[in-house]
Amino acid sequence: MACPFVRSASRVQSEDTSVAQGTLERNDSSNKSAAAAAVGKCPLGYDSGSFKLGPFSCVICRALLFQTSKCVPCGHIFCRLCISRFEDCPLCGAGIESLTAHDELQQQVDQFIEGHARVKRSIPCVNEDSGQKETSNVMYEDVSLERGSFLVQQAMRAFQAQNLESASARLELCAADIKEELERHGPTPEICSQLGAVLGMLGDCSRSMGSTGPAISYYNESVEMLSKLPVKDSEVVHALSVSINKMGDLEYYAGDLTAARAHYAKSLDVRRSALQDYSELSSQVLDIAVSLAKVADVDRALGNNGPASEGFQEAIKMLENLSGNTAESGSLERRRLSILEFLHGQTKDA
Ligand SMILES: [Zn+2]
Ligand SMILES: [Zn+2]
Repeated sequence: MACPFVRSASRVQSEDTSVAQGTLERNDSSNKSAAAAAVGKCPLGYDSGSFKLGPFSCVICRALLFQTSKCVPCGHIFCRLCISRFEDCPLCGAGIESLTAHDELQQQVDQFIEGHARVKRSIPCVNEDSGQKETSNVMYEDVSLERGSFLVQQAMRAFQAQNLESASARLELCAADIKEELERHGPTPEICSQLGAVLGMLGDCSRSMGSTGPAISYYNESVEMLSKLPVKDSEVVHALSVSINKMGDLEYYAGDLTAARAHYAKSLDVRRSALQDYSELSSQVLDIAVSLAKVADVDRALGNNGPASEGFQEAIKMLENLSGNTAESGSLERRRLSILEFLHGQTKDA
């Protein structure tokens, strides 16, 4: 069974532009825009056209209002973070003197989210006094994951508009929903892959906010969830190994090269063992080459030049052997050539 969540998790966590953390990922702003562009597809396939902008949404981020604020004096309404980047109201052009919280409207929005795609259902319960079965308890149960996909869609809109607080809030709600499901049904593959993906997105939000600690713990949780899944699915292997690499990247930026190396090496292991067990996919070989480059790069930064150049050479050999296999796919071939170019650049310096 191909879970839509898993597939898009790998897309969300695409590594196309990040051959090695030391070079291509240094630029913070390009990082952000790459991440924003990558988080464009709803893991649950929720059609973005199905949500209409209305009185509960913000025209700046095109998502449901978060921390609803009213402009003084014009009275137009936006998310606090969204409007705080403007001096004049984007709707009427009036200068903004101040912002006031619109708690009443925010409450309505929150109620809307709470009730969205949930059905009210009576469940039988036993009356303690009479011992009689009654159907007085009312339970709100998620039907067909509509609410999860809705929340993720809202989160992605907010993320693209850089309202990271709003995105995090929606994703946290979604993660809490799935965790409830997890308690009720246990770690089914579907629940694990969805939770793994949502936690990974929460990690992306924290990372974009510059909160390294929370980002690492979200990626950690994400890896824990994805690790419960069988590694037969190449999408799962990709999502899992990318999350591990992201933890490595965060440690690399924080200056903890040893911890970074451990994560890159673990990711490489995951990718290598997947390749041993199953038939060779060109995209998997490319992933392994990227992993080898990451480990080699950090080895060199640690002063271990021997292992570093061995790693770069092994990656080059893998990619050269792959030529021909990727020729049918333009994007794979482009990726192969760009990684190869990067690797040749690295070995020239050494
Ligand atoms: Zn907004
Ligand atoms: Zn206005």
